[in-house]
Amino acid sequence: MGAIRTTGLTKRYDGVLAVDGLDLRVERGEVFGFLGPNGAGKSTVINLVLDFVRPTAGSATVLGYDSRTETTAIRRNTGIVPEGATLYERLTGREHLAWIARANGVEADVPALLDRVGLTIDDADRRVGGYSKGMGRRLALAMALVGDPELLILDEPSSGLDPAGIREFREIVREEAADGRTVFFSSHVLGQVEAVADRIGILNRGKLVATGTPAELRGSCGITQSIRFEV
Ligand code: ATP
Repeated sequence: MGAIRTTGLTKRYDGVLAVDGLDLRVERGEVFGFLGPNGAGKSTVINLVLDFVRPTAGSATVLGYDSRTETTAIRRNTGIVPEGATLYERLTGREHLAWIARANGVEADVPALLDRVGLTIDDADRRVGGYSKGMGRRLALAMALVGDPELLILDEPSSGLDPAGIREFREIVREEAADGRTVFFSSHVLGQVEAVADRIGILNRGKLVATGTPAELRGSCGITQSIRFEV
């Protein structure tokens, strides 16, 4: 039973085929980088597997649960950082974590969560309006880690971060993966994906055009050239 499986997954919006018969396999325990240019369909795939939108055709499972009928089990075991995750400027970091914990009916070990994402207790007691972008992103990750999910789904987690922020975020992802968590994250930047992913899937126009380890994809020269060109 894999972490994510899709079979013929398809989503059509009016004239746009956003996801086109996708067969995706993400294994448990791996860091999977979902790479593709803007508009390739990455967010739509994430929205489909989490049942935020309904497929035109095909099916998906997450941790063995059916995306359309077993959503509650999927949400309980999956931490999500959506693209451009919304934080509430007037609330503190601690209040965000407490709110997510209440919403999920679980306890939040705030000091442990902060430690995992590199935020201090002082940070937690400040309003999020005063956070840097990187701190906000790390808080969003801490929120996703509440409830100790088996799978983390991160949509463009590094976008808009400066190089230091990207490096910090990458380290956190590595540590979470080392703890045995499956991490699925999307990006349109090859360098961000290959530095941390065990395997990469390349999406273009809603279709998977290549899958492999970073070394395998580097080895196939034509593919690497085209990624460099496109993203
Ligand atoms: P980005 O990183 O820019 O978000 P992406 O790879 O995540 O890119 P999607 O956001 O999934 O791509 O978009 C895939 C295609 O589907 C695009 O052509 C987009 O315009 C279209 N699309 C996505 N959501 C909708 C929607 N709700 N209604 C109409 N078209 C949509």
